[in-house]
Amino acid sequence: MSDIDAAVVGSGPNGLAAAVAMARAGLRVAVYEAADTIGGGLRGAALFDSDVIHDICAAVHPLAVSSPFFREFGLAARGVRMLRPEISYAHPLDGGRAALAWHDLDAACAGLGPDGPRWRRLMEPLLAHGDAMVDLLLSDLRGPSGLRAAPALLSRVLLHGTRLGPRSFQGEEARALLAGAAAHMIGPLPSLPGAAVGLLLAQLAHGPGWPLPRGGSRSIAEAMAADIRAHGGTLHTGQEITDLRRLDGVRAVLLDTSPTALLTLAGDRLPPGYARRLARYRYGPAVGKADFLVSEPIPWSAPGVGRAGTVHLGGTAAEIFRRESANARGQASDRPFVLVVDPAVADPERARGGRRPVWAYAHLPHGDARDPLPVIRAAIERYAPGFTDTVIAERGLSGAAYAQYNPNYVGGDIATGAISVRQSVFRPVAQWDPYRTPLPGVYLCSAATPPGPGVHGMCGLLAARSALRREFGLPLPALGRTVAEGNEVSEVSES
Ligand SMILES: Cc1cc2nc3c(=O)[nH]c(=O)nc-3n(C[C@H](O)[C@H](O)[C@H](O)COP(=O)(O)OP(=O)(O)OC[C@H]3O[C@@H](n4cnc5c(N)ncnc54)[C@H](O)[C@@H]3O)c2cc1C
Repeated sequence: MSDIDAAVVGSGPNGLAAAVAMARAGLRVAVYEAADTIGGGLRGAALFDSDVIHDICAAVHPLAVSSPFFREFGLAARGVRMLRPEISYAHPLDGGRAALAWHDLDAACAGLGPDGPRWRRLMEPLLAHGDAMVDLLLSDLRGPSGLRAAPALLSRVLLHGTRLGPRSFQGEEARALLAGAAAHMIGPLPSLPGAAVGLLLAQLAHGPGWPLPRGGSRSIAEAMAADIRAHGGTLHTGQEITDLRRLDGVRAVLLDTSPTALLTLAGDRLPPGYARRLARYRYGPAVGKADFLVSEPIPWSAPGVGRAGTVHLGGTAAEIFRRESANARGQASDRPFVLVVDPAVADPERARGGRRPVWAYAHLPHGDARDPLPVIRAAIERYAPGFTDTVIAERGLSGAAYAQYNPNYVGGDIATGAISVRQSVFRPVAQWDPYRTPLPGVYLCSAATPPGPGVHGMCGLLAARSALRREFGLPLPALGRTVAEGNEVSEVSES
């Protein structure tokens, strides 16, 4: 192993971001991925004997167009076309009504009736500090990043992290818009981390939008892999690392794995105190996923919903809070929170020969092994009667099956760790440099480190910054394409 300077174990967006930074710093980097394809949560596949591509995990990318890593890396300049739906997300309610988060703030406010001015007052100060807000919430929370956004954000998080938040609106529509965005945290609601996540995502809905990459999420992984290779790095699939001793002699090892995996990989090399603290790391609820191949667009009954990239099915804010909190306590619901994406709404080329993919997942208790298809189908059918008749083929992946698919999703927890106040800051353990482990040269760089889950690359970038400085005395390199490498267009396209 003396032929490489740095090894990255796992090729999710964080592993790839770490490898991009290390390779661009001039190091000889190798990425080892257990699965047969790279990408972790960015993988896609043609399912059901058809050429229609389904995103297996992440599908929608407000963070991949706004995080500091991707702002500098520049996906568009590498040929990844981000397609932004005109309605970022929709939230149907009973009675044929729906709340619509139009990308255009004016249109969103117009649709919210008397709550329109309130939504504007909530969003405008956040939009005014859009990048700073992202810099703050996608940082390690240990430096001055994005502090300009702190006053506007803090006052709103303190309100919307409590039951008083929904009372600041008159109608169910605006309440549901914010609660649905907060539910992306997958944990008890209302909560301070939930409010921060909800406000971030709602603000992004009117800022860069909630785009989908043309052709599916795997194009993001491919662009990152191309950059690693262009800087001399190598990627090895079908290579599960089961023991860190295999990487002895490599100066820096970055693990895009769960803390639980670190315990196994390190064996008895970890100091007992650190191992005990890692073992106390808590995982959150699971998701169960459904992939459908359908013959037509989802027949939503409420007008406008079919123009949204993402659809939240969870009922009113009060219902979402109650069910998400019960779910986090391990109590299953027959009406869990469900997210639905019909990618061809933003990317018509995703539909092939009259067939299109539908991506949906439900929030379920940790470790849930039940087939999620029945609850997901019922949730869609409730707001889109006749959906089932359009289904040509379908498959369900339970929370337990997700843990098999990707070991980072312990118990089906796709956030690789519960998002509590404590675990937002001290992730995976309470220490100043959260990426560093007591083993010389070994770092964690997965979503189990700050700033947590999502396709933003920041856990990888910040872990690489720590490793570059400590192990090699190097600063973070520039991440963008140089003129010599050939720049192309660099904006998000309206779909
Ligand atoms: C159903 C679903 C929907 C989602 N939707 C979105 C979305 O729309 N937008 C969004 O931003 N985020 C979404 N996410 C979350 C996002 O995918 C994750 O937060 C993100 O992928 C985490 O990146 P990561 O690099 O930390 O880990 P991962 O992406 O989980 O990658 C870890 C990789 O490491 C590999 N690995 C682990 N252990 C080893 C080992 N010992 N040896 C070798 N390889 C190993 C795994 O095989 C895997 O490929 C979703 C996730 C899921 C599951």
